[in-house]
Amino acid sequence: MTTNPEWEGRPAPTLPTLPPSLSDLSRPPMPVPGCVVCLRLAERRGVVRAECDRSAETDANVLLRRHLRKEHGA
Ligand SMILES: [Zn+2]
Repeated sequence: MTTNPEWEGRPAPTLPTLPPSLSDLSRPPMPVPGCVVCLRLAERRGVVRAECDRSAETDANVLLRRHLRKEHGA
């Protein structure tokens, strides 16, 4: 039976919940708050999604993901 005193009474470090990786293509990219380009692309995605246009939605996701990588270093 061993106890490590260093572990006692020390709260475990809480890591912030990381956003989904951009390499995970199953998740749609998220617009960056305050960025007009992101907002526009997300709006367009919302419109085509409402129209059930899957290919246009995929296009919008590609554009947004590309913009995120280029402009936001994501
Ligand atoms: Zn942006």
